[in-house]
Amino acid sequence: MIDPLRPDPFVCYRRVPDPHATALDDGPVLLVGADGVFVAPRDSRVRLPRVAELQDASADVPTALHQIAEYDGEPVYAAAAAGVSLPARYEEIGYRELYGITPDEELMLVSRAIQIVSWDRDSAFCSRCAAATEPAHSECVKRCPECGCTQYPRLAPAMIVGVVRDRRLLLAQSPRFRGRFHSILAGFVEPGESAEQCVAREVYEEVGITVRNVRYFDSQPWPFPHSFMLGFTAEHDSGELIIDPAEIVHAGWYAADELPEVPGEVSISGRIINWFREEYGIRRQGK
Ligand SMILES: [Zn+2]
Repeated sequence: MIDPLRPDPFVCYRRVPDPHATALDDGPVLLVGADGVFVAPRDSRVRLPRVAELQDASADVPTALHQIAEYDGEPVYAAAAAGVSLPARYEEIGYRELYGITPDEELMLVSRAIQIVSWDRDSAFCSRCAAATEPAHSECVKRCPECGCTQYPRLAPAMIVGVVRDRRLLLAQSPRFRGRFHSILAGFVEPGESAEQCVAREVYEEVGITVRNVRYFDSQPWPFPHSFMLGFTAEHDSGELIIDPAEIVHAGWYAADELPEVPGEVSISGRIINWFREEYGIRRQGK
């Protein structure tokens, strides 16, 4: 029976004190490389290495091993792949490639593994006094023994918004995009502002219009390296498009049946664009 107060995957944190000496409950290990995690590809679904395999003579147990969740009744571990010799059938697969072939709750675990392993690597020294930090074992935090400063995994909230005017969606092309690829507007939340204020400010800065009826849509962790995307929809309120050439090379209003090349549904931008297609694709009777 599903316990609604105990979701699966259940997020928890434990740093295994000495992975070489500790008897570990077996479970999958998300080994984080430069671009993604190591998996053994199978026909329909990918397979992760397991702690018991790493404890075989043929492989090494990582020095820093984090238990990041419980999933399907098992502990889920995360570690940096550097220095671990895995059996040859495992290969690195990028986070974006896992979309579409991996269930959402497993993607959440991959995202969590990438962010915890990169936080562990980047918080070895105190950011205030540069002394070597000490990890806690039952909480995801590093403490400085010299000045007491603490470092938790960082999350950078960002907003992404689909703005609609007269049944048309605002799409823009960043200088980073190739070809006809367009997307909806996005930007990082500034210290001191709410997500809704960020929506209004970014839209005004990038294309010179004001918006109204800003409504929360959905969210998505985006571990590159530690963004957290908050999705919104909004309506055009006033002004005509005047683009900021430093941020955008082209912007326009597009009807649902004339969209240029846009992101797929695996990302939150694609989900908002799909919402627009469904909401405004077919002109309903009487409108
Ligand atoms: Zn310090």
